[in-house]
Formats: sequence, C-alpha cells, structure tokens
Amino acid sequence: MTQLEMAREGIISDQIRVAAAAEGMDPEVLRRRIVDGTAIVCHNIKRQGGKPLAVGQGLRTKVNANIGTSKDDVSIDKELEKARVAVAACADALMDLSTGGPVDEIRAAIIRETDACIGSVPLYQAAVDTVLRQKKAIVDMTVEDIFAGVVKHLEDGVDFITVHCGVTRSTVERMNREGRIMEVVSRGGSFTVEWMAHNEAENPLYEHFDRLLEIVRPYDAVLSLGDGFRPGCLEDATDRAQIHELILLGELTQRAREAGIQVMVEGPGHVPIDQIETNIKLQKQLCHGAPFYVLGPLVTDIAPGYDHITCAIGGALAGAAGADFLCYVTPSEHLRLPTVEDVHEGVMAARIAAHAADIAKGVPGAREKDAAMARCRKALDWEGQFKLAIDPHKARSMRAESGVDEEHGACTMCGEFCAYKVMNERRDKQRSAAG
Ligand code: SF4
Repeated sequence: MTQLEMAREGIISDQIRVAAAAEGMDPEVLRRRIVDGTAIVCHNIKRQGGKPLAVGQGLRTKVNANIGTSKDDVSIDKELEKARVAVAACADALMDLSTGGPVDEIRAAIIRETDACIGSVPLYQAAVDTVLRQKKAIVDMTVEDIFAGVVKHLEDGVDFITVHCGVTRSTVERMNREGRIMEVVSRGGSFTVEWMAHNEAENPLYEHFDRLLEIVRPYDAVLSLGDGFRPGCLEDATDRAQIHELILLGELTQRAREAGIQVMVEGPGHVPIDQIETNIKLQKQLCHGAPFYVLGPLVTDIAPGYDHITCAIGGALAGAAGADFLCYVTPSEHLRLPTVEDVHEGVMAARIAAHAADIAKGVPGAREKDAAMARCRKALDWEGQFKLAIDPHKARSMRAESGVDEEHGACTMCGEFCAYKVMNERRDKQRSAAG
C-alpha cells in the first residue's frame, strides 16, 4: 500500500510519525490531512536515510533550493558544496536540476550527501541522455526515453518528481491564440512544447498519465505537477494558458489521488502583487486543496541581481495566502548559474518569506519566536538574539565587525543614545525607587 492508501485505512506509518514529530503535530491530524489531500509526506521508500518531509495545510511553510550543473558549468564538488550550504541554511528540500556533465553521478552524490528531501525533473534526464549520449536532438526523445528517465530518478531515491503533465496541445493552442511576451519559460515545459510540435503528438506524460502513476506507485514518491506555462513576466501572469494548465492539473490531481499517489501542484512564476492571492485561491480551489509549491512569485521583472528579494516578497504574500512550499530564487536568477554564496542568500531570503507567512497563517510556534527576539533585543541580550536569528552567523559577525563587544552594550547605530538602554535605565530607576 502507498502512504495515501495506508492513511485511508487509518494506518499511521513511520513516515507520518517522523514527519509529524518534526512539525510538533499530532500524527493523527497529519494522517487525516493526507487522506483529504491537503497535506503530503515526501519520501521515496527506496531512499536510504532520507527524512520524510510533510508539506501542506497547517504545517510550517517549506523551502526548496534548486541546485545542479549546466552544460557551461559542470563541477560535482561545487554542487555538493551548494547542497551542504543549502542544508546548513535550513532548506527543507533540494531539487537537483543538473543538465551538464555526468548527471547520474551528480544526482547520486547529492542524494548521498544529505538526508533532506530531494526532488528532480526526470524529463531533463531524458533530454540529456538523448542529446549528450545518443547525439540526437531533444525532439528525438522517444516516449520510452521519457519514462526511462522517470524510472531512473525514482530508482535513485528521489522523493518527489516534477512532471509537466499539463503542457498539452490544448494549453499550447491557448498560448498561441492569446499571445505571450515570454511564451514558455519553464525548461521542462519548453522541451515538451518543442517535442509535441515536432512529433505532432500529445505530451506523453499527459496522454499516458496512468502509466506514470503505475511507475511511481512502487516508490511511493510524490508527483509534483509542474507548471510548464508559469508566467515568465508580469504581462503574462494569470492568462488563459496558465489557468487552463491549472484546470488540467486539478483533474490530474484527482486521478492521481484515486490511484493512491500523493500530489502537490506547482505554481507561478512572475506575478504582480495584486494577483498573488487570487492565484493561490484559484489553485486551492481547482486542485482540491492540494499543497501548492510556488517558484517565487517574483513581483517585478526589473531587478536582476536582486531576484531573491523580488521572490521573497512574493513568497511571503503567497505563503500568507496559503502556499505551502516556496522554491527559492537566488540573486543570480536570470543572469547565471548560482554560486555557493548565492545559494545561501537565496535560502535565507526564502526562509524569511516562509516564516513571515507562517506568522500570518498562525503556524504554532512561529509568532513566539518573534516575541522571544523582541525580549532579547529589549534586554540587549546579544547571545539570545544570535540564537534566535534566522542567520545567526551573519548577525554575530556583523556585530563583531562593528568593533563593539560589550555583552549587554548598545550597538554603533545610536551608541549612548540607545533607546533600549534609555528605557531599561528608566525602568531600573523606577524599580529601585519603588523599593
Ligand atoms: S543602539 Fe539603537 S539600533 Fe543599536 S540596539 Fe540600541 S536602539 Fe537598537
């Protein structure tokens, strides 16, 4: 039986127990949410040593970091370093999106490196195998190549796979009719659109969706229904192609659940702030409450170099409106493959967004952290502040760099005019006067 089928039978599996404990949640509550599809537990049963990760309603908003090589930048060591840095920065999941070099070796090394949840896009595998190994074009991928890529990743222990099943002839038709500035910006989406046009065929992952479900079943991995038509700029947001794809993803969500497979749905993309809440509500409505995994959303197109910030702004709003899983964006977005430092910055920005969302969602324990920080600030308790900080190392080193190391002293911002100090001294005077 799969996780979902066991949950339907009232069974609390070890995976549910472990994931619920990590959330400080009653496992029975998590089991019920898995049954109604509003939560999932990501864990490939073939994976050795991976930690099951719960995503969904009432749970802490999760953060994913994308890593992986490209054809122009291939270094296993660098990608492993990124994996270590992302996990040290408390990313909940890593997606290996490698498309350059020995991708099988890289994926295996990343899976070995960490017990964090791992995701991937198996279509890249099929594309790489076709282009680099068979020396053919992407459009020459066969249906068997595509499914072989899925099997390969699941056999390696990937916990969730992104599959662009909603990129169909009907969605492409809508995009062509409506016209878009950026057309398709998802890599997997663009491969699929090109393949369908060249082969005059339907997307195999849509046409043979039942076969995909049968393949996933023995691994009990999560299907992450990809958004091939996610808007790549504000002008393309919330258009017919995007919404048509979402309607299809909602239908596929239902079919997967009927087959006992857990599902999350991926979402935009570049979205103006005033459309974010609508996008989240539409997804939740059309996809029967399935956990929503968003890339960004990036709230403006004009900030290359700062897209971890444009993404964190959108991610906080999306999370507050109900998105469950945030995919980070690094300062390198739209410019280059991220560096190790970019990965750290991206995870921190996404974690800030996720925490801000958790406060708005009322996730237990989130707000209390802020209250504890306020108390430490008021008491000029620097050690306490560092411990509570989202990035303790950065906070500690910035204070150290200022040259002030007095244990309960003010900082260089206001020095002797420190408002906390003034108020604390006033309070102490009042206390001693009182007695
Ligand atoms: S000196 Fe100013 S900025 Fe620094 S801790 Fe005191 S009030 Fe805050």
